[in-house]
Amino acid sequence: MSYPDTKETIDLIKKLVTIPSPTGNTFEVITYVEKFLRELQVDTYRNRKGGLIATLPGTDSSKHRMLTAHVDTLGAMVKEIKPSGRLKIDLIGGFKYNSIEGEYCQIETSSGRKYSGTILMHQTSVHVYKDAGKAERNQENMEVRIDEVVKSAEDVRKLGIEVGDFVSFSPRVEITPSGFIKSRHLDDKASVALLLQLIKHLKTNEISLPYTTHFLISNNEEIGYGGNSNITPETVEYLAVDMGAMGDGQSTDEYTVSICVKDASGPYHYGLRKHLVKLAQENNIEYKLDIYPYYGSDASAAIRSGHDIVHGLIGPGIDSSHAFERTHQSSIENTGKLLHHYVLSEISS
Ligand SMILES: [Zn+2]
Repeated sequence: MSYPDTKETIDLIKKLVTIPSPTGNTFEVITYVEKFLRELQVDTYRNRKGGLIATLPGTDSSKHRMLTAHVDTLGAMVKEIKPSGRLKIDLIGGFKYNSIEGEYCQIETSSGRKYSGTILMHQTSVHVYKDAGKAERNQENMEVRIDEVVKSAEDVRKLGIEVGDFVSFSPRVEITPSGFIKSRHLDDKASVALLLQLIKHLKTNEISLPYTTHFLISNNEEIGYGGNSNITPETVEYLAVDMGAMGDGQSTDEYTVSICVKDASGPYHYGLRKHLVKLAQENNIEYKLDIYPYYGSDASAAIRSGHDIVHGLIGPGIDSSHAFERTHQSSIENTGKLLHHYVLSEISS
């Protein structure tokens, strides 16, 4: 099998983004990942938070490595059932209401019933509301229109919908002939797919790793504490694989692997960063170094929670993050290659 098989990785991304998994409701997607790994005969265990850890033994078990990517996504929760039968929502994760205006969504009740709906401004119809364009996109003005015959709060409750039910957004996944991958949830399911594909490659080709390596599929990253636990005392290096942030002044693009040198939490480990750059240069992997201004990762969360580790952050470049995300197959490919060379490399520090 050639590596990386980017087409297969993209198929896996497509599958992962279609499983709803707002932070706090990730059981189904974790079960999917668990099954994927079991079929490869990889041992896994779930932590109490609901994340999944897979371990591949290495030649040297005195030093460990950990890599993480997160399956949780942005989402919302029912905050209030309005007398009109519409729902007021509360956001899960960091984003703005304008990025979900008009989005199709799914409401999941605590008993598992699922209903479809649309997230709309209350003042949407231009034939009725003069301020439709100018009204602020906020919790007060935005609501969910449920695709059921409901005319009152009571009607909604009869469906089993209650405060606290999870709302997930349509993944809107599309792969273009020009190699772009579009989906609301590329952050960070693109990286989860990359880690799973890497494990698959190592297992099926019986490639042994120099160090025991843990893969943590975390499920609370969007709220800040996905990957800050279950780190073995032997762990020296901890690499978060998460999206590279694009925008004005950013060097990250949709075609290369982004190596983060600093984010809102401060600089990433200098030695590990230089090691990653060296691996990229030696293996003709296209990369960009970048600073993400309003960003924190599971690696910085791990450091903050007191782990004495060397931390790093790399990932595919994602345009319009936490909104209408897009990347290109070449960014997936470059990230996959760097991950592969990294897990086979010597520990740098
Ligand atoms: Zn992320």
